[in-house]
Order: sequence, then C-alpha cells, then structure tokens
Amino acid sequence: MKFEILCSKKATKRTTILHPSGQHVPNTTRILAMKSKLLVFFTTVLIAFLHMGLIIDRVIYTCPFDGTEIVSYEIRSRLVCETELDMGLSHAMPWRYVGQCEVCSFPMYQPDEPFTPEEIEQLKVYLASERFQKEARGKSSYFALGVLMELQGESAENIAGVYLKASWQYSGRDPEYMTQLYPNTFRRDYREAARRAMTFYDVVATELAAVKQSQGDKMSEEDVWRYIVALYLPVELSRRMGKFDEASQRAERAIQLLSDFSDHFLLDAMRYQVKLIAAKDASQHDFDEDTVRKWELWLEKQRKKAEERGDIF
Ligand SMILES: [Zn+2]
Repeated sequence: MKFEILCSKKATKRTTILHPSGQHVPNTTRILAMKSKLLVFFTTVLIAFLHMGLIIDRVIYTCPFDGTEIVSYEIRSRLVCETELDMGLSHAMPWRYVGQCEVCSFPMYQPDEPFTPEEIEQLKVYLASERFQKEARGKSSYFALGVLMELQGESAENIAGVYLKASWQYSGRDPEYMTQLYPNTFRRDYREAARRAMTFYDVVATELAAVKQSQGDKMSEEDVWRYIVALYLPVELSRRMGKFDEASQRAERAIQLLSDFSDHFLLDAMRYQVKLIAAKDASQHDFDEDTVRKWELWLEKQRKKAEERGDIF
C-alpha cells in the first residue's frame, strides 16, 4: 500500500508545541517558535517513517474545568486504509486523537473552538452526574466520550463510532502497554466498549433497514456503506469477544439482509468472517489485499465527491 504524507499545518493558537523529550518549548518569541516548529517538523518526519507514512503531532490542550494539561495527537496523512478487520484507523486522515484530563476524565473533543459559558455549565452537570462518575471515570478517552455523548443525546451512529474507537484503545494490540495504562481492566473494558458499540450499531442497522425498505435500488452509496458497516462491525466485535454463536448468527443474517449488495467489497470481508468464526478464531486478522485495494478506490471516490460538495473529508 502506498501512503501519502501531507505537510503538517500550523498548530492552533491554544496548543503548546512540545519538545520530543516531553519538555515544554516556550512559545514566547518568533525565533523560538520557529525552532520548535522545525524540531516538531523533523520529529514528525522521523515518526512518519516509523508509522508507515503517518505524521503524528503531539499537542497539549488545557482542561476547561480544572486547568490540567491534556495530551493529544494529531495524525496527518491521506486516505489511509489500515488492514485490520475491526477497521482500526481505516478512515480518511487527518485525524485528531481525543485526549483526556487525568483529573476529571473529561475527553477533550472540541479543542479548536472554545466552549461557550452555557456549554461549560451543561458539561459540568454531565461530568458531575452519577452516570458519568460511575461509567466513565478511569476509562479511556473514547469510552468517556461515548458516555458523555449518550448523556448529550447524540446520534446512535456517532456514539457507535466512538465506542468502536474505545474498543481500538482497549484491543490489546500491545497488551503490555495496555496493562500499564489500564491495569487488569483492559480486557474487560474492551468487552464493555465492544458491547456498547454493537448496541448502537444495531440501532443504526435498524434505521438503515427502514431506508432500504423505502428506497430500494435508489438507496445512496453512502447509506449502503453505513448499512453494511453497521451489520459488519458487530460480527467482528462478537467474534473478537469469542462469542462465536452470536457472531455466526449475525454474519448469516447480515449476508441474507445484504444479498442485494453481494459484490460489495465489505461483503468479501463478511464471508472471511464466516470462515474465522467456523474455526473459532477470536484473534486479530487483516483484510485481504484485494479488499483493501477496492476500499482505497472507494475512499478516493468518496473524497472527490466530498470535495465537490465543499465538505471536509
Ligand atoms: Zn479536568
């Protein structure tokens, strides 16, 4: 696969650039700022090679509730298709990783735009709520964001996507690191994040089934994609949890529901899932190269369409 690198744009005013050692680089004079930008540039170029073409910037925000520093990352690249079956990182770049306050667990989901006084007041209520305290404290940033979005009444699709990202955080790709971050809980937390993602993807699949029912062949390409994804990901997540009976039932049902789209590249992955489930294989696997290639072509097409509409993709 080929990866393209985009030039990193300027850090926003409210970000403080960090020296690779983790020390603050004072941003008080232009020269120092330029030096630190150069450092960041060379560091990011180096990191880019180490991360298969991705540019990663480490940025610091401030928690609006207690002033604690929140570490975040900005990942810059174009149309990157990660090959893992749970679609980790399989979306268009750039992507900003949601950082989290270590003191109050607030996930910094809106770093570029200051919260209004009304939003701050409302968020304070959510953060102090019994539900946030019980379900989000000590959890990963995307898990906490999922809880917050549930309290905010966000759409099922957005919430599902955020819990999916939480499952990536807990997926144990590096168990030693995960154990340091979430001692003894990350496997349990993975199951909880995956379970929640599945619950919300089921809502999305039901909504899209109604769209398919009413629109038939006229269903848009985006809606077809959303429908397939909502049916596909719960198959992968239940398989990864070792729930093979559930995964098998879900895969069978999804293939039946999606018979009109059987030549869609993600259906190839669904059929691959059937094989893995039959072998009772709960481990991480990659999409095959053919699927990834078709996926990249599809993403490129979507990006062009978004550009024509004037949207950011
Ligand atoms: Zn905080």
